[in-house]
Amino acid sequence: MYSNKVMDMLKVQVNKEFYAAYLYLDMANFYADKNLDGFANWFYVQAQEELDHAMLISKYLLNNGIRPELEAIAKPDKEFKELIDPLEAALEHEKYVTKCIHEIYDAAMAEKDYRSKQLLDWFVLEQNEEEANADSLLQKMKMIGSGGQVFILDAQLAQRKHEPPSFDFD
Ligand code: MG
Repeated sequence: MYSNKVMDMLKVQVNKEFYAAYLYLDMANFYADKNLDGFANWFYVQAQEELDHAMLISKYLLNNGIRPELEAIAKPDKEFKELIDPLEAALEHEKYVTKCIHEIYDAAMAEKDYRSKQLLDWFVLEQNEEEANADSLLQKMKMIGSGGQVFILDAQLAQRKHEPPSFDFD
C-alpha cells in the first residue's frame, strides 16, 4: 500500500525535475552562446539526467496505477553575467532539490510508505552525487578564475557523456 500524500508529493516532484532540466538547458545555452561548448555539453548532459529523474518518478507512479499530470514548466529566470554564475546557481539548485527529496522522504517514513521509501533511497544517494558534481565543478572554476585555463576545463567538460540512471524500472 502506498500513501496518497506521498504520491501527491511525487507528482509535484516530477514537475520540479522537468524544471531542473529546463534550468540546465538555459545554463547550457548561456555557455554555448559564449562558444564554451564543453561547459554547454556538461549542462546538456545534466539536463538529460533531470529528464531521467522525471521519467523514473513517472514510471513509479504509473506502476502504482497513478497517471502523472504534466504541468506547465516555469521559465528559467536566473540572470547570469560571469562564467561562474551558472555553477553557483546549479549547486544552489541541487541543494534545493535535495531538500525537496528529503521532505518527501520524511513523509514516506511518517506514513509508513515503505515502497516509496525504497524509490527515495535511490534519490537520496543520487542527490549526494549531484551536489558533489556541481560543487567539484564550482571549486575548479574558482581555482581557475577567468583566465585561459577556462579552455582546458572546457575541453575536459566536452568529454562528459550521458549515462542512463543506475536504477530503472523494466
Ligand atoms: Mg534531479
